[in-house]
Amino acid sequence: MSTPGLKVLVVDDSRTVLRLLSRQLVSLGAGVVTPCDRGDAALERIADDPRATDLVFCDLNMPNMDGIELVRRLAQLDYQGALVFVSSENPRVLKSAERLATSLGLWVLGAEGKPIALERIGHFLELAASDRPRKAVAARVSYGPDELRTALAEGHLVNHYQPKIELATGRVAGFEALVRWRRGAELVFPDQFIPTAEEHGLIDELTRQVLLHALADLKRWREGGLSPHVAVNVSMENLTDLSFPEFVFAALEKYGIPGDNLILEVTESRVMRDRIVALDILTRLSMRRVGLSIDDFGTGHSSLAQLRELPFEELKVDRSFVHGASRDASRKAIGEASIGMARGLEMRTVAEGVEDTEDWDFVVASGCDLAQGWFIARAMPANSVPGWIAKWSPPVR
Ligand code: C2E
Ligand code: MG
Ligand code: MG
Repeated sequence: MSTPGLKVLVVDDSRTVLRLLSRQLVSLGAGVVTPCDRGDAALERIADDPRATDLVFCDLNMPNMDGIELVRRLAQLDYQGALVFVSSENPRVLKSAERLATSLGLWVLGAEGKPIALERIGHFLELAASDRPRKAVAARVSYGPDELRTALAEGHLVNHYQPKIELATGRVAGFEALVRWRRGAELVFPDQFIPTAEEHGLIDELTRQVLLHALADLKRWREGGLSPHVAVNVSMENLTDLSFPEFVFAALEKYGIPGDNLILEVTESRVMRDRIVALDILTRLSMRRVGLSIDDFGTGHSSLAQLRELPFEELKVDRSFVHGASRDASRKAIGEASIGMARGLEMRTVAEGVEDTEDWDFVVASGCDLAQGWFIARAMPANSVPGWIAKWSPPVR
């Protein structure tokens, strides 16, 4: 790829770095390279015309205005170009800077130690010459409560199922039910309507429908000679209603499903509000052998001691500590520590977000019990499940 006419700003208080990096950029075909030895000077240039700069290489540790302050001001100016950090700060500081800039809505290409290799500079030039990825937030639509209420009443919500694989044997252990809203020809994903359901008192009805569909599908699979478990996501709001266990028991009975074929997944960040009522509900469910699982572990705020008080038997390590863990020391450390801790508490562990062979190798080596993710399969409609099980064979590594 060529990088014609890219306008690059280099900000560093060291003149040696400025000279070297500028020369390298020119040799790689950058259009205009402007060196700045102070953050405020760089900011002035961008304030004059935020669109006149395509890419900023930015040092972190500078007198007057450091890289972090510069980044904050760039975000205020609505700078739309790309950003690369180049600094001799330790990798953890670089990562935080990267995260901060991304959270501020800036387009961050990466963070590199000094001196930055020529081929990395070329790589960043190519990235910056490509189109800025569309912001995910901008593309997200949220639906209103009335529309969702109608969808619930008219049965437009459907379950898709994603397999969970037992790593020791390669066998299909179960499926997680993931709700989708069939809205005309479009399939709407849960992130776009679960918050609405929770805010407008519709989550109870939604969970009940998902649970009934899941048990009905499981009944059909069992009649076909299959015996996976199903996992259903429950919202914390469901655990404030003391009659929820009765509903679950009645549903199990209706479809003739043993309690231990069902797992309820609760997101960790939501587990701890209303502790006493939740404890009441969860204890009654687990007395009937319904499995309880902590979802997205590592993203919430509950203390380990609190987790141990509740009768969870499964812990799902959030995908942010699984995908890419083999290439990122802090992800790996958190992923492995979560798995180790769960084992110490005699809980089963599930790694979420296994997307590629590296993730698969990581979870196998980590001693995790089960794996789930796109590398195995995406969520599929209920009637695809038996065929998928028949064809499944674990990757040979
Ligand atoms: P979750 O329970 O953590 O479900 C896993 C999510 O990760 C699913 O997204 C799944 O499609 C996605 N996923 C699976 N494998 C991979 C992978 O390898 N890489 C990546 N990047 N993602 C992967 P989905 O279906 O969009 O669901 C999002 C969340 O919505 C769920 O997260 C769950 O918290 C919530 N949700 C889904 N169905 C229900 C439901 O019936 N009731 C409630 N209360 N919440 C639900
Ligand atoms: Mg889940
Ligand atoms: Mg999860």
